[in-house]
Amino acid sequence: MKTFYIESLGCPKNLVDSETFAYIIKRSGNQLATDAEDANHILINTCAFIRDALTELDDILSYYATLKQAEEIAGLVVTGCVMNRDAEEFIRCYPEVDAWIPLKDFATFERYLQEPVSNCRHRLPLDQVSYSYLRISDGCDNRCSYCTIPSIRGGMKSMPIPNLYAEAVMMAEHGAKELILVAQDTCNYGLDIYGKKALPELIVRLHEIPQYRWIRVMYMHPDHFELEWIDLYHKYPKLLPYFEFPIQHCCAHILKKMGRIKDGNEIAALISDIRNAIPEAVFRTTLITGFPGETANDVKALCRFVQDTKFLYAGVFAYSPEAGTAAIELPDQIKPSTATNRKYKVLNCQSKITESLLEQYIGKKLPVLVDEIEPHDPDTVGGRAWFNAPDIDGIVMIGGGNPEIGQMVEVEIADLIGLVLVGRYIRTLE
Ligand code: SF4
Repeated sequence: MKTFYIESLGCPKNLVDSETFAYIIKRSGNQLATDAEDANHILINTCAFIRDALTELDDILSYYATLKQAEEIAGLVVTGCVMNRDAEEFIRCYPEVDAWIPLKDFATFERYLQEPVSNCRHRLPLDQVSYSYLRISDGCDNRCSYCTIPSIRGGMKSMPIPNLYAEAVMMAEHGAKELILVAQDTCNYGLDIYGKKALPELIVRLHEIPQYRWIRVMYMHPDHFELEWIDLYHKYPKLLPYFEFPIQHCCAHILKKMGRIKDGNEIAALISDIRNAIPEAVFRTTLITGFPGETANDVKALCRFVQDTKFLYAGVFAYSPEAGTAAIELPDQIKPSTATNRKYKVLNCQSKITESLLEQYIGKKLPVLVDEIEPHDPDTVGGRAWFNAPDIDGIVMIGGGNPEIGQMVEVEIADLIGLVLVGRYIRTLE
């Protein structure tokens, strides 16, 4: 029997594949370890989105290759996005790897485990979690000029609604209370298989699953969101008014070169329309600084945009020129150090906004989903309010009450420390 540790790198969309690999490992009679030290086999599910991810992978592979050489582990398997980007180079450098499994090729992995082939998307959570990601489509039909995803993961392939419903039910049975819809472009879900955007139909169906308290939709491309969907947020109470629009920039000449359609004014109008219809709505975004042709004035405009738009959270990334993308060929490339300085400038503007928006919750009572309890200190309990997506937004630290992971509790917010809300347990909401 093999005991696998899965090193799941990259984004939540990759985590969904890792959980499928976990299911296959368990179903084939093998075991899973939550720590690498307890495993005799390692499966690395890679991310190859940007050069930094490949550098990180190189470090991780070199570590496990050393363990393999020292016979401290018996098997080393690599899969994921790297198989469609720079795989040959990695294969050449790491002969210690026993199997290189193509991206999402679960059947080949099963053969590696000497088990019968199946095309299932059963999953087993890698950890005890209160939430579950549901990857509704994979790949992308957009052609943002800086992005390698379409060349790595191919065009968008949506999963049919009945399959997604069955998968969501299965994850609810493992204890998830929050369902988080992810894809490269969730707004375009269904175009390939239904000939129309089918996100509303999917949400209506998933809303029926009783165990879920919250449904959150991530990665909503601002060019593809339909204003008529606002009604869904009124009709379906589990659907959180949390809007993640990865807008990337606000300046028209940059957005155009990025291959995006809406300019800053149109994006601001979209957000304002949503706010008028749903006053409690919160917005998160991602931004890129240092894109070719960006000027110091553009950065000032971006800071102003962030201040005016009042995103609750924003991830800001320095532009990374990636081989094979159109953007790498553009004139007026920006020095990486300048792109990084600009990133911190924008992050600084954003953190003040985040802080002032979070302060408004002090003194309020909020439902909070308990995510984690520090094993060595059961009094340290972390959860999330509805406006916190896991891992990328802030958390709520809960004092008292000894709640359990997966419970929804009412918390009275007493303080804001950094960007962490701190509160007192009031009662369990079930
Ligand atoms: S929407 Fe653009 S940035 Fe996002 S995955 Fe597709 S091509 Fe890449």
